Amino acid sequence: MNIAFDYGRLLEETLQECKHHTERGHVATYIPELKKADPKMAGVALMTARGLFEAGDTRVQFSLQSISKIFSLLVALEQRGAEAVFAKVGSEPTGDSFNSIVKLETSEQKPLNPMINAGAIAVCSLIPGSSVEERFAHITCLLEQVLGRPIEIDEAVYSSEKETGHRNRALAYFLKDIGGLEGDVEEVLDLYFRQCSILVDCADLARIGMFLATKGISEAGTPLVSANAVRLVSTFMVTCGMYNGSGEFAIQVGIPAKSGVSGGILGAVPGQYGVATFGPALDRKGNSVVGISILKRLSEVLDFSIF
Ligand code: GLN
Repeated sequence: MNIAFDYGRLLEETLQECKHHTERGHVATYIPELKKADPKMAGVALMTARGLFEAGDTRVQFSLQSISKIFSLLVALEQRGAEAVFAKVGSEPTGDSFNSIVKLETSEQKPLNPMINAGAIAVCSLIPGSSVEERFAHITCLLEQVLGRPIEIDEAVYSSEKETGHRNRALAYFLKDIGGLEGDVEEVLDLYFRQCSILVDCADLARIGMFLATKGISEAGTPLVSANAVRLVSTFMVTCGMYNGSGEFAIQVGIPAKSGVSGGILGAVPGQYGVATFGPALDRKGNSVVGISILKRLSEVLDFSIF
C-alpha cells in the first residue's frame, strides 16, 4: 500500500456502505446486561505503521467477552507451557455453538479447542496464582502492557454473567468431573467471568490486533510474549476464532480473528495491520453482522487474506 493511502477515508466509506447490515442482527440477550446495547452502533478501527485510523463508534466501551480467550491462552501458554495446555484442551474446530456441551462427553474427554467456552474455562484453570485476584492480574498485566493504560471491568456485566451463567457453570462442573479442570470450580468460573467483563473499545482492539500482527511486540518495541505463543493463538483464531462461522470467515476475510458476543471482532493481518470492528447486532452464530461485512469489504480493498 502506498504511503499516501487515505485509510481514514476508506474506513469512513466502508462504514457508510456496510452500516445497514446492523438491521440483520440481534443483540445478545442470554447475558441480561448485554441486552442494553444499542443494535445500531457500528465502528471500525485500523492500526497501521502510520498510526490508528477509525470511523464510527470506536470509542464506545464494551466488555471483551470471548475475545478475552486470546489473553488467557497467551498467559497459560507462557506460564505453563504448550504441553500442559494441550493436555487439557484440544486443537480441532467444532461445528457446534461456542457454549455447546454436547461434545464434552463424546469426544476425547477434553474440550475441542480453547476458543469455545469449555476450552477457555479449562485454560483459565491453568493460570497460576493463589487467589482469583492474583490469577486475574496475569491477564490484566499483559493487557495493560499492550494497551499502555489501566484495565477495568464492567461490574454490571460481571455480576450479570456470574448470576446467570448456568451453562458455563455446567460446563465447568462437567470438566471437573472428567479431570479437565484444575483447582476450585467456582474460583475458575470467577476468573472466566472477570476476563469476559474487561472493558475495551474498538480502537483498543485494533491495537491488540497489531500486537498479534507483530508477533507479540508492544508499540514501544518490547517483546511481551514469545512469538511461538502468538503463532499458536493466531492459528486458533483462524480455525476457531469465529466459532462455527470460522470456515466461511476464512474464505471471505482470511485473517486470524476473534469475536465476542458484545459485538467486537479483533483481527490481525500478519506483519501489517491490527483491525477491529464493533457492532452489537449479532448473527445466529454470535458474530457481529456489521463487523463481518466491514471486514469482508476491507479485505477486498487492502488484500488482507493470508491464503
Ligand atoms: N461471556 C460469554 C459466555 O461465556 C462469552 C461468549 C462469547 O463471547 N461468545 O457465554
